[in-house]
Amino acid sequence: MLGALLKILSTALDSLIRFFYPAYCLHCSERVAKSHQLLCFSCFEQLEWIDRSQRCARCWGPKTCQHCDPLHPHRSLFEPCGPIMDLHREFLKKKRGKTLASLMVITLSKTSWPCPEVIVPLIDSPFPKQEPLYSLAKELAILLSCTLLLPSSKLQDKKILLITDSLRTIEEVLKAKQRLAGFFPEKIFTFALIDHRV
Ligand SMILES: [Zn+2]
Ligand SMILES: [Zn+2]
Repeated sequence: MLGALLKILSTALDSLIRFFYPAYCLHCSERVAKSHQLLCFSCFEQLEWIDRSQRCARCWGPKTCQHCDPLHPHRSLFEPCGPIMDLHREFLKKKRGKTLASLMVITLSKTSWPCPEVIVPLIDSPFPKQEPLYSLAKELAILLSCTLLLPSSKLQDKKILLITDSLRTIEEVLKAKQRLAGFFPEKIFTFALIDHRV
C-alpha cells in the first residue's frame, strides 16, 4: 500500500516538475541535464546540419538545382529530419525562438559574412508580429545586438539578414529579397533554418 502510494506520489511529482520545467528531451523523452534545455546531449549531437558537399555549393539546395544565382549569398542550416523537427514543432507551438536563434548564431559564426545590422523575418501576413518567426527574429536580433525590422525605408544602406524557418521553394525567398531590394539596402544575406527542397 505504502509502495503504491509512494509510486503515485512520485508520478505526480514527476508530472508537476514536467509541467513547470520541460526537463525532458523533445526528441527522445530522456531527462535533460538542465530544465531549460530542449534536447538531451545525444540528440543535440544528432542534429542534421546540412552537408554542403551533398548539396548545391551555391544555394545549399539539391545538387541538381538551377538558376539559384540570385539567391546567393544564402545558407540553409538543417535537413528536414531528426531532432530539429521536434525543436521546430515546439517553436511553432510556444513561439519561443531562443534555441533556434542560437543555432543561427553558430552558423553565422562559421560564415565569412559581416555581422548583420538588421534582421528581417520572411513573413507574409497582415499580422506579422503574431507569427512565430517574428519571435525568432527578435531573439536573433538580441543575441547579435542588432535591430529587428519589417520591410520599410529604414532598411536603406543596411546589411540585412533575411531569415525564414522553412524553405520550400527558392521563389518565395527571391520574392521577399526583391521586395527588400526596393528599399536599397547595402546587402541582403539569407538564412533558412530547415531546407525542404529535394
Ligand atoms: Zn534526446
Ligand atoms: Zn543551387
